[in-house]
Amino acid sequence: LNAPDDPKHCLACGGENVHFYARANDIVLLRCRDCKLVFQESYPGFEESQSDYLTAVEEGERILEPDEALETFPDFVRRSSDMVYTIIRKHAPRGSVLDVGCWMGCLLLLAKRDGREVAGIEPAPAGDFGRVRCGLEVQRAFVEDADFGGTLFDVVVSTQTIEHTPDPYSFLHAMGEFAKPGGIVVVTLPNARNLQSLGKNFLSRIGVKSNPWKHLGLPKHMSQFGMKSIRLLGQRCGLEPVASGYLPSVFIRSRALLALRTALASWIPTSNLYVVLRRPS
Ligand SMILES: [Zn+2]
Repeated sequence: LNAPDDPKHCLACGGENVHFYARANDIVLLRCRDCKLVFQESYPGFEESQSDYLTAVEEGERILEPDEALETFPDFVRRSSDMVYTIIRKHAPRGSVLDVGCWMGCLLLLAKRDGREVAGIEPAPAGDFGRVRCGLEVQRAFVEDADFGGTLFDVVVSTQTIEHTPDPYSFLHAMGEFAKPGGIVVVTLPNARNLQSLGKNFLSRIGVKSNPWKHLGLPKHMSQFGMKSIRLLGQRCGLEPVASGYLPSVFIRSRALLALRTALASWIPTSNLYVVLRRPS
């Protein structure tokens, strides 16, 4: 997968109102004045930028039942999948699910256990866990190259993945192409425009932060989205807005704190966000 041809265009809204933002070690960051997206000037490549995720998974011989397989995931992965599945169920109580960037298949297992047809796409070796150990249909591919023989899905979902992609437009557009007409596309991603991140940006820019820019997850995260930039990207991909909101950090363990943070999210945006979009009928 190559970097976009012209990195001077905003990767979210496509506009040309893009300027130099900062230099984070060797990485040049650009910023769009219109939608506030901050993004890397050039894509380091999949192997180079996503090396944290390229460890092969251990392949066992026996296929795990969904409940058994779900037991193997860390708590925060389960919490993240539970949150996303709650959004899916609200907007599509039934129907098939395609998870783009499905990792080891946690969300797919929740949907399968709920009686749905499921499939996944995952370029990293973690995709083999879902395919080999859980018997899920998972293609080791990028979404732009995946092929389900013309099968379309009621729900196409992507969790914390779009910020890693070199071209979010082609990624989200390809997601939309896998949705049935009238089907929904759900995207969750980090909210780079929460107060804490904006504060860390400021401290990094004026040079007083230890480990400046560490919070941006470079070079893994190609783009730093906020609500405005992801909404504009959805519009550009021809998808209709249905719902959007903020999600608390999956690392909050206390139920009380989680409930409080969720309740306050409309006023004080949290560290993750989601959009629900619809492919026009
Ligand atoms: Zn923009």
